Amino acid sequence: MEQLRETLKGHHLRTTTCREDVLSTFMNRKNALSHGDLEGALGENYDRVTIYRTLKTFLEKGIIHKVLDDEGLRYALCSHQCSEEKHQHDHIHFKCNECGKTNCLENLHIPNVALPTGYQPESFNLLIQGKCPECLAN
Ligand SMILES: [Zn+2]
Ligand SMILES: [Zn+2]
Ligand SMILES: [Zn+2]
Repeated sequence: MEQLRETLKGHHLRTTTCREDVLSTFMNRKNALSHGDLEGALGENYDRVTIYRTLKTFLEKGIIHKVLDDEGLRYALCSHQCSEEKHQHDHIHFKCNECGKTNCLENLHIPNVALPTGYQPESFNLLIQGKCPECLAN
């Protein structure tokens, strides 16, 4: 609870119950979540627009980032110091084909890509699909 409030405060956000609940869902689940996942978890308490607005605010403030996988758009917590000013990710995402969970591999950076002249990169998305350690162990 304390950690939630600190995170919100650190990103200059007022604490609301919806913000607290969305943030704690991300912290508990650990893997990337879609809007539908959050609706499934919190839909009894908040309507979809409220959840959508909360996600948008979190994105803008540098609390979560977008994760693209083959099923669409998900969101994951920013683990390092993202803020409203600086929101940058160049890590790799891993999607498990068995359990369907997508995770950030924060310490694995996307290798340098030499783009043809005339192209200026602004963000990178790299998704690796396979089997996660948990599924491999079963
Ligand atoms: Zn971020
Ligand atoms: Zn798995
Ligand atoms: Zn990520």
